[in-house]
Amino acid sequence: MKIFCVGRNYAEHAKELLNDVPTEPVIFMKPQTALLTDHKAFYYPNFSTDIHYECELVLRICKNGKAISEKFASSYYDAITLGIDFTARDLQQKQKEKGLPWEIAKAFDMSAVLGTWKTITNEEKKSSFQFQLYKNNQQVQHGDTKDLLFSFEKIIAYVSQYFTLNMGDIIYTGTPKGVGPVAIGDKLHANLFDEELLRFEVK
Ligand code: ZN
Repeated sequence: MKIFCVGRNYAEHAKELLNDVPTEPVIFMKPQTALLTDHKAFYYPNFSTDIHYECELVLRICKNGKAISEKFASSYYDAITLGIDFTARDLQQKQKEKGLPWEIAKAFDMSAVLGTWKTITNEEKKSSFQFQLYKNNQQVQHGDTKDLLFSFEKIIAYVSQYFTLNMGDIIYTGTPKGVGPVAIGDKLHANLFDEELLRFEVK
C-alpha cells in the first residue's frame, strides 16, 4: 500500500509558505508506518518543535492501473475522507534550504492521519467538496476542492505515469491555506460539509 501526497495544490497555501505556484503537481510519498487511523492520539515527536497540521481531502484508489488517462481517472477512486499531513516545519525548512529530500519532515511515524472513509458515487464526484479543520473547536482551515490547482483526475493521471497505482493506495490531495502549529493537549476535528470524519488529540 502506497501513500501519495500532493504539495502546493492550493495557490493561497503555496503563497503563505512563500513557494511558487507550481505548473506541475509536486508529489511526495509516506511509508505505511506513517498511518494513524481510528481517531487514535497523535504523539508529539521529540525531534521537532514546530509540528504543523495540514488538513487535506484524501482519495482511496479502488483498482490497479498505470498511465491512466485523465478521462478515465475518476473511476479509479471510490472513497474519500479527511486526513492530516503532519509536517515538521522546522526540519522541512532546513531540508529545503539545503536542497535535500523532505522525508524526515513529512514521512515520520503517525504523520499521515486518516479519518473515516466515505464511499462516493459517480454523481458526487462531479461536484466540489468543502471541508473544515478545527483546533480546540476553533476553525483554523477551510478548503473547497473547486480551488485545487490540479484536480483529482489530473493528480491520478500524473502520479500513474510514474507509479503503478494499486487498490488500497491513498492520495492526500493538498492543503488549503491556514496551516499552523499543534501543541500537546490540542484537540483536532475535521468535517466534510457538516459531517465529522476525523477527531483526535495531540499527546
Ligand atoms: Zn500536505
